[in-house]
Amino acid sequence: MKLVFDEAQKRHDPKFFLSSGASKPNPEVPRRADILLAAGLDAGLELEVPRDYGLDPAASVHSPEYLDFLQNIFARWSRIEGASAEVVPNVHPDRRDGDYPASAVGQAGYHVADTSAPINAETFGSALRSAHSAAHAAELILSGHPAAYALCRPPGHHAFRDLAGGFCFLNNSAIAAQRLRRDHDRVAIIDVDLHHGNGTQGIFYARDDVLTVSLHADPVRFYPFFWGHASERGKDAGLGFNLNLPLPRHTADDGFLSALDRGLERVAAFAPGAIVIALGLDASEHDPFGGLAVTTAGFQRIGEHLARLERPAVIVQEGGYISEVLGQNLTSFLNGFTSVHRVVKNSRD
Ligand code: ZN
Repeated sequence: MKLVFDEAQKRHDPKFFLSSGASKPNPEVPRRADILLAAGLDAGLELEVPRDYGLDPAASVHSPEYLDFLQNIFARWSRIEGASAEVVPNVHPDRRDGDYPASAVGQAGYHVADTSAPINAETFGSALRSAHSAAHAAELILSGHPAAYALCRPPGHHAFRDLAGGFCFLNNSAIAAQRLRRDHDRVAIIDVDLHHGNGTQGIFYARDDVLTVSLHADPVRFYPFFWGHASERGKDAGLGFNLNLPLPRHTADDGFLSALDRGLERVAAFAPGAIVIALGLDASEHDPFGGLAVTTAGFQRIGEHLARLERPAVIVQEGGYISEVLGQNLTSFLNGFTSVHRVVKNSRD
C-alpha cells in the first residue's frame, strides 16, 4: 500500500491552545507526522509524495470566500497593531446568516470555530499539501489500487465548508470522498476518531450520495459539544444518510467494536463503491485526550473489521496525539486492515 505524504505538511507548527479556558501547548505538533510516517513505513507501506493539485481539491468541498480567508488572513492579521503572533479569534457571530464581516478580526471569528486552530504563515501551505495527500490517495484508488493511506497532517474532519476548528482547516476526508465520487455513485465515510467528525457531517448533511458514519466519545460532555448526537441524521435529501454512534467515556475495545459493527452494517446496506476511513488514533487508552480506552490490539481489530467491507478504501489520518503508543497504534491498525482486505466488485455500482 502507498503512504502519501509531503514534508511541507510539517511546516504548520501551531502554539496557541485553550483547554477548559486554560492555556496549554497545542498538541497538534509536526512530530506527529514523523511518528506516523515511521510507523507506516514499519507496516510495509511505500512513501509517495502527492502531485500538486492546486486549489481544486479544497475548492471541491470549501467555499471560495473561506479559501480566500485561509490564504490571506495571516498577512492581514499581522498588520494589526499589537495583534497576536497567530490568528486566534476572540469574537464570534451568534448566527452565521448576517452580513459577512469586512475586518480581519470579524472574519477570524466567522471562519474559525474555536481557539484550537491558530493560523500562522505556514498554515495554509501545510493544509493544502495535506489536502493534496488525500486527493492523491483517492486518485490511486481511482486508478485501481485497492487501498491507500494519506498521512494527512494537519487533520481535517472538524473543518466545515467555511469553518476551521479543532486543529483542522481543510477537510481531507471530505476531499477524498468527493474525488472518489468521480467514479462511484455512492461513497461512505467511516470516522473512528475519538471526536465527532462534525465538519465532515456538515459538508454532506443534505446529501444522499455520501453516507457519513462517526463513532466518538459522547459530545454531551466532550468536544465538539454542539454536534455528534445520535439525533443528527441528515436533512432534506440527506435525511437518514448520517449516523452518529456516541460512546460513553472510557469505552474500551469490545464496546467500540460492537458500535463499529453497527456502523458497518449501515455502510454495507448503503453499498458504496468505495469508502473513506477517517482514521483518528486518539481513541487510544494512552492518548492525552483520555476520552476512550482502545488498546493497541484493539486498533488491529478495528482495521480487520473495516477491511471486511471489501471496498476500495482511502485511509485518511485524522487525530491521534503524542503518546508512547501512537506509532504502534497506526502499525497495528494497518496490519489488521491489510491482513484481511480484499476488494470485491460491487454489483450495485
Ligand atoms: Zn480527534
